[in-house]
Amino acid sequence: MRTEEHKNNILDYMPEELETVAAELGEKKFRAAQIFGWLAKGAAGFDEMKNVPAALRTGLAETFYIGLPEAVRRQESRDGTVKCLFEFADGTQVESVFMKYEYGNSICISSQSGCRMGCTFCASTMDGLDRSLTGGEMLAQVLAMRNLTGEDIGHVVVMGMGEPFDNYDGLSRFIRLIHDKKGYNLGLRNITVSTCGIIPKIRQFAIDFPQVNLAVSLHASNQKLRELTMPVARRYDYYELMKACREYTELTGRRITFEYAVINGVNDSAACAKELASEMKGWLSHVNLIPLNEVRGREYKTANGKSVAAFKRILENNGVAVTVRRTLGSDIDAACGQLRRNR
Ligand code: SF4
Repeated sequence: MRTEEHKNNILDYMPEELETVAAELGEKKFRAAQIFGWLAKGAAGFDEMKNVPAALRTGLAETFYIGLPEAVRRQESRDGTVKCLFEFADGTQVESVFMKYEYGNSICISSQSGCRMGCTFCASTMDGLDRSLTGGEMLAQVLAMRNLTGEDIGHVVVMGMGEPFDNYDGLSRFIRLIHDKKGYNLGLRNITVSTCGIIPKIRQFAIDFPQVNLAVSLHASNQKLRELTMPVARRYDYYELMKACREYTELTGRRITFEYAVINGVNDSAACAKELASEMKGWLSHVNLIPLNEVRGREYKTANGKSVAAFKRILENNGVAVTVRRTLGSDIDAACGQLRRNR
């Protein structure tokens, strides 16, 4: 474990906050943009910041550290997917996954180490929640992965370990950090956030970040079924969730993607497909069917290709936009629901 207890992670700072830091160290404000730019390039030490005066670099190093995580394990899939177990300075571990798509490279990052939502098909929640990540630690996963793979990353999905809306402050800061023009400058439409359905935060997100893509992990066609696999449903009712989602689309004009992991004998029947179709019909919704990624220690089995295809057909015949997700990295347990901190 590397400890930086007495210092602050500079990756958590917005450029305007770095201006205050620069001023306190007796420097001009424009230095902040230089520092922020170097951080976004993945600088691992203040010494790399060549156009920043040496005295300022020394001053920064006395108060701050650059919180890039260490890759304590790296696995590469046959399909080019790279999964890393990253460890931060205090020993906190998370997994992140780099994926290659036709439209470009993407990373799935974690918003928390562990998760307290308790979805019964998911590995991330098996040891509960360790802690939420800061916005800088979320950004650090993107920077560290880019340093490691040497590849550009143009899309970010916040769909790894944790429930992003259970860490709304960290998530908001992350979006502002990675979107800032002086730094990584990632377009808001290139970011997707996935929630298990925390209704008040869906409403908040529509106001705060209407251009960021929203995905909702639904995995059920009615309240009773959702309660079986997702304890969050006991707090936030299925039909209330649907109502909040429809309001989101009306407010933002953006569609919502609903993730539906198809589980053999649980939610893959024709009756479920028809029920789901009636919920989804006629508004800006899109269903993404995910053949369930099996998890060691969980009893659920993936639905076979035939039943996924039949499920898809029923949705299509009812006029619902639907795709089947190509599963990447399942040979290294890097697919949805398979991320965890300990093996
Ligand atoms: S699916 Fe998402 S919200 Fe549910 S336990 Fe896993 S990480 Fe948490």
